[in-house]
Amino acid sequence: MNNEVLSRLRVDYPELRFIVGKRDAFRPPKTIIVDPNGSSLSLLHEVGHALCHHRTFNTAIQRLKMEREAWEKARELCRKYDVLFDDDFVEDELDSYRNWVEKKSRCPVCGLTRFQSLDGNYYCPRCDLN
Ligand SMILES: [Zn+2]
Ligand SMILES: [Zn+2]
Repeated sequence: MNNEVLSRLRVDYPELRFIVGKRDAFRPPKTIIVDPNGSSLSLLHEVGHALCHHRTFNTAIQRLKMEREAWEKARELCRKYDVLFDDDFVEDELDSYRNWVEKKSRCPVCGLTRFQSLDGNYYCPRCDLN
C-alpha cells in the first residue's frame, strides 16, 4: 500500500476514519480498515464503498451490486490518486463474488437454484413452494 495515497485520502476525506487492521475492509458508515501490506487498489475499493454510502445489504444480489459500484468508484479514485486500475484483478474479484452468490443460491437439499426474497430468505422452487 502506498502511504502517500493514504495521507492524501486522509486529507481529502476527513469524514472517513482510517484504522490499521489485518485486511482492507469497510465498516459502515465511515470506517476504513487499512492493511499496511495491502494494495492501494484494494484500499481505494474500500473507500469506494464509503463514498457510495453503502450500509447493509439483505440479498446476495444487492451485495454483488455494491461490489460493482465500489469498484467503479475505485476506478475514478485510481485516476485521481495515480494508482493503476487492474481490470483483470477486479474481474477476478467480481467473479469470486458471482461464484459466492451462485453457491449460496444452490438448494442444499436438491441442488436447484433458489431465489432470495428482499428480506434475505432463500426459497427453493422445488422444496419450498410445493
Ligand atoms: Zn467490496
Ligand atoms: Zn430444493
